[in-house]
Amino acid sequence: MALQVLLVEDDTVLADGLMRALQAQGMAVTLAGDGLAADGLLQGASPDVAVLDIGLPGIDGFEVVRRLRARGGATPVLLLTARDAVEDRVRGLETGADDYLVKPFATAELIARIRALARRNAPRPAVLGLGRLSLDNTTRRARVGERSLELSVREWGVLEYLLQHAGRVVSKQQIIDAILPWGEDLTQNAVEVYVSRLRLKLDGAGVAIRTIRGFGYLLEAGA
Ligand code: CA
Repeated sequence: MALQVLLVEDDTVLADGLMRALQAQGMAVTLAGDGLAADGLLQGASPDVAVLDIGLPGIDGFEVVRRLRARGGATPVLLLTARDAVEDRVRGLETGADDYLVKPFATAELIARIRALARRNAPRPAVLGLGRLSLDNTTRRARVGERSLELSVREWGVLEYLLQHAGRVVSKQQIIDAILPWGEDLTQNAVEVYVSRLRLKLDGAGVAIRTIRGFGYLLEAGA
Protein backbone atom coordinates (compact mmCIF):
# COMPACT_ATOMS: atom_id res chain seq x y z
CA MET A 1 0.00 0.00 0.00
CA ALA A 2 1.19 3.53 -0.73
CA LEU A 3 2.79 5.41 2.14
CA GLN A 4 0.37 8.07 3.42
CA VAL A 5 2.19 11.35 3.96
CA LEU A 6 0.77 14.56 5.41
CA LEU A 7 2.79 17.50 4.08
CA VAL A 8 2.34 20.82 5.88
CA GLU A 9 4.07 23.74 4.21
CA ASP A 10 2.81 27.29 3.62
CA ASP A 11 5.26 28.10 0.83
CA THR A 12 3.02 27.02 -2.04
CA VAL A 13 5.82 26.71 -4.61
CA LEU A 14 7.91 24.51 -2.31
CA ALA A 15 4.83 22.54 -1.22
CA ASP A 16 3.82 21.86 -4.81
CA GLY A 17 7.32 20.71 -5.79
CA LEU A 18 7.63 18.44 -2.76
CA MET A 19 4.20 16.97 -3.30
CA ARG A 20 5.02 16.04 -6.89
CA ALA A 21 8.35 14.53 -5.86
CA LEU A 22 6.72 12.38 -3.16
CA GLN A 23 3.91 11.33 -5.47
CA ALA A 24 6.51 10.33 -8.07
CA GLN A 25 7.82 7.91 -5.41
CA GLY A 26 4.38 6.34 -5.15
CA MET A 27 3.45 8.09 -1.90
CA ALA A 28 -0.10 9.33 -1.25
CA VAL A 29 0.25 12.97 -0.19
CA THR A 30 -2.23 15.18 1.65
CA LEU A 31 -1.27 18.84 1.64
CA ALA A 32 -2.05 21.45 4.31
CA GLY A 33 -0.97 25.09 4.16
CA ASP A 34 -1.34 26.13 7.78
CA GLY A 35 -1.06 24.75 11.29
CA LEU A 36 -4.75 24.65 12.15
CA ALA A 37 -5.59 22.71 8.99
CA ALA A 38 -2.79 20.26 9.81
CA ASP A 39 -4.06 19.90 13.38
CA GLY A 40 -7.57 19.16 12.07
CA LEU A 41 -6.32 16.61 9.54
CA LEU A 42 -4.25 14.83 12.20
CA GLN A 43 -7.33 14.50 14.39
CA GLY A 44 -9.22 12.78 11.61
CA ALA A 45 -6.51 10.54 10.15
CA SER A 46 -3.26 8.82 10.99
CA PRO A 47 -0.83 9.20 8.11
CA ASP A 48 2.30 7.02 8.10
CA VAL A 49 4.46 10.14 8.37
CA ALA A 50 3.76 13.87 8.87
CA VAL A 51 6.21 16.38 7.39
CA LEU A 52 5.75 19.70 9.18
CA ASP A 53 7.24 23.07 8.41
CA ILE A 54 7.94 24.90 11.70
CA GLY A 55 7.07 28.40 10.49
CA LEU A 56 3.37 28.23 9.63
CA PRO A 57 0.48 30.70 9.74
CA GLY A 58 -2.01 30.15 12.56
CA ILE A 59 -0.24 27.75 14.89
CA ASP A 60 3.36 26.76 14.20
CA GLY A 61 4.79 23.31 13.59
CA PHE A 62 5.88 22.89 17.23
CA GLU A 63 2.32 23.47 18.42
CA VAL A 64 0.91 21.01 15.88
CA VAL A 65 3.27 18.30 17.23
CA ARG A 66 2.53 19.25 20.82
CA ARG A 67 -1.21 18.87 20.29
CA LEU A 68 -0.73 15.61 18.39
CA ARG A 69 1.33 14.06 21.21
CA ALA A 70 -1.00 15.48 23.88
CA ARG A 71 -3.83 13.49 22.22
CA GLY A 72 -1.66 10.38 22.31
CA GLY A 73 -1.09 10.47 18.53
CA ALA A 74 1.92 8.35 17.51
CA THR A 75 2.32 9.54 13.91
CA PRO A 76 6.06 9.96 13.20
CA VAL A 77 6.85 13.64 12.62
CA LEU A 78 9.63 15.14 10.53
CA LEU A 79 10.11 18.87 11.12
CA LEU A 80 11.38 21.25 8.45
CA THR A 81 13.42 24.07 9.96
CA ALA A 82 14.36 27.24 8.15
CA ARG A 83 17.78 27.36 9.79
CA ASP A 84 20.13 25.06 11.58
CA ALA A 85 19.25 26.46 14.99
CA VAL A 86 20.14 24.21 17.90
CA GLU A 87 17.26 25.59 19.98
CA ASP A 88 14.79 24.59 17.24
CA ARG A 89 16.12 21.02 17.25
CA VAL A 90 15.99 20.80 21.04
CA ARG A 91 12.52 22.25 21.12
CA GLY A 92 11.39 19.89 18.38
CA LEU A 93 12.75 16.92 20.30
CA GLU A 94 11.14 18.03 23.55
CA THR A 95 7.84 18.55 21.78
CA GLY A 96 7.83 15.03 20.39
CA ALA A 97 9.12 15.28 16.81
CA ASP A 98 11.11 12.30 15.55
CA ASP A 99 13.45 13.90 13.03
CA TYR A 100 14.15 17.18 11.30
CA LEU A 101 15.60 18.54 8.07
CA VAL A 102 17.20 21.95 7.61
CA LYS A 103 16.12 23.99 4.58
CA PRO A 104 17.32 23.94 1.89
CA PHE A 105 17.48 20.16 1.64
CA ALA A 106 17.77 17.66 -1.20
CA THR A 107 14.45 16.06 -2.12
CA ALA A 108 16.17 12.67 -2.13
CA GLU A 109 17.09 13.18 1.51
CA LEU A 110 13.51 14.04 2.44
CA ILE A 111 12.31 10.87 0.72
CA ALA A 112 14.91 8.75 2.51
CA ARG A 113 13.97 10.24 5.91
CA ILE A 114 10.26 9.69 5.31
CA ARG A 115 10.90 6.04 4.40
CA ALA A 116 13.14 5.58 7.45
CA LEU A 117 10.48 7.02 9.78
CA ALA A 118 7.77 4.84 8.27
CA ARG A 119 9.95 1.74 8.68
CA ARG A 120 10.80 2.58 12.27
CA ASN A 121 7.12 2.92 13.05
CA ALA A 122 6.05 -0.30 11.32
CA PRO A 123 4.77 -3.00 13.70
CA ARG A 124 7.57 -5.37 14.65
CA PRO A 125 7.26 -9.08 15.17
CA ALA A 126 7.96 -10.02 18.80
CA VAL A 127 10.70 -12.49 17.92
CA LEU A 128 13.09 -12.39 14.99
CA GLY A 129 15.20 -15.43 14.28
CA LEU A 130 17.61 -17.06 11.86
CA GLY A 131 19.73 -20.16 12.36
CA ARG A 132 20.22 -20.57 16.13
CA LEU A 133 19.95 -16.81 16.65
CA SER A 134 16.83 -15.19 18.11
CA LEU A 135 16.02 -11.62 19.09
CA ASP A 136 13.01 -11.09 21.34
CA ASN A 137 11.72 -7.53 21.13
CA THR A 138 9.40 -7.97 24.11
CA THR A 139 12.06 -9.04 26.58
CA ARG A 140 14.95 -7.37 24.71
CA ARG A 141 16.85 -10.68 24.97
CA ALA A 142 19.15 -12.00 22.29
CA ARG A 143 20.12 -15.68 22.25
CA VAL A 144 22.19 -18.14 20.31
CA GLY A 145 20.51 -21.43 21.17
CA GLU A 146 20.38 -21.34 24.98
CA ARG A 147 23.27 -18.91 25.28
CA SER A 148 22.39 -15.26 26.05
CA LEU A 149 24.04 -12.61 23.91
CA GLU A 150 25.10 -9.35 25.50
CA LEU A 151 24.45 -6.62 22.95
CA SER A 152 24.81 -2.86 23.22
CA VAL A 153 21.81 -0.79 22.14
CA ARG A 154 23.41 -0.04 18.79
CA GLU A 155 24.63 -3.58 18.21
CA TRP A 156 21.04 -4.66 18.83
CA GLY A 157 19.80 -2.06 16.34
CA VAL A 158 22.20 -3.18 13.62
CA LEU A 159 21.46 -6.87 14.17
CA GLU A 160 17.71 -6.31 14.28
CA TYR A 161 17.80 -4.42 10.99
CA LEU A 162 19.93 -7.14 9.37
CA LEU A 163 17.52 -9.81 10.63
CA GLN A 164 14.51 -7.89 9.33
CA HIS A 165 16.21 -7.91 5.93
CA ALA A 166 17.80 -11.36 6.09
CA GLY A 167 18.72 -12.66 2.66
CA ARG A 168 18.74 -9.16 1.22
CA VAL A 169 21.64 -6.76 0.69
CA VAL A 170 21.40 -3.61 2.83
CA SER A 171 23.60 -0.52 2.64
CA LYS A 172 25.44 0.99 5.59
CA GLN A 173 23.35 4.14 5.13
CA GLN A 174 20.10 2.16 5.38
CA ILE A 175 21.34 0.71 8.66
CA ILE A 176 22.22 4.18 9.95
CA ASP A 177 18.82 5.59 8.93
CA ALA A 178 17.03 2.72 10.63
CA ILE A 179 18.78 2.71 14.00
CA LEU A 180 19.48 6.34 14.78
CA PRO A 181 17.42 8.27 17.28
CA TRP A 182 16.51 11.82 16.40
CA GLY A 183 19.40 14.18 15.74
CA GLU A 184 22.23 11.72 16.38
CA ASP A 185 25.15 11.18 14.11
CA LEU A 186 26.80 7.93 13.10
CA THR A 187 29.51 7.28 10.52
CA GLN A 188 29.68 4.33 8.15
CA ASN A 189 32.98 3.42 9.86
CA ALA A 190 31.10 3.07 13.14
CA VAL A 191 28.67 0.65 11.45
CA GLU A 192 31.69 -1.42 10.36
CA VAL A 193 32.85 -1.55 13.99
CA TYR A 194 29.42 -2.76 15.21
CA VAL A 195 29.32 -5.40 12.50
CA SER A 196 32.78 -6.73 13.37
CA ARG A 197 31.77 -6.97 17.05
CA LEU A 198 28.56 -8.74 16.06
CA ARG A 199 30.49 -11.26 13.98
CA LEU A 200 32.53 -12.24 17.05
CA LYS A 201 29.43 -12.51 19.21
CA LEU A 202 27.54 -14.53 16.59
CA ASP A 203 30.14 -17.30 16.55
CA GLY A 204 28.22 -20.58 16.51
CA ALA A 205 24.87 -18.93 15.73
CA GLY A 206 24.57 -20.48 12.29
CA VAL A 207 24.32 -17.09 10.61
CA ALA A 208 26.85 -15.05 8.67
CA ILE A 209 27.07 -11.32 8.02
CA ARG A 210 28.67 -11.08 4.61
CA THR A 211 30.36 -7.89 3.42
CA ILE A 212 29.18 -6.61 0.07
CA ARG A 213 32.24 -4.62 -0.89
CA GLY A 214 31.65 -0.90 -1.39
CA PHE A 215 27.99 -1.18 -0.40
CA GLY A 216 26.95 -2.92 2.77
CA TYR A 217 25.99 -6.28 4.20
CA LEU A 218 23.97 -9.42 3.75
CA LEU A 219 22.83 -11.57 6.65
CA GLU A 220 22.20 -15.18 5.76
CA ALA A 221 22.00 -18.62 7.31
CA GLY A 222 25.25 -20.58 7.32
CA ALA A 223 28.48 -20.50 9.31
CA1 CA B 1 6.95 28.39 6.42
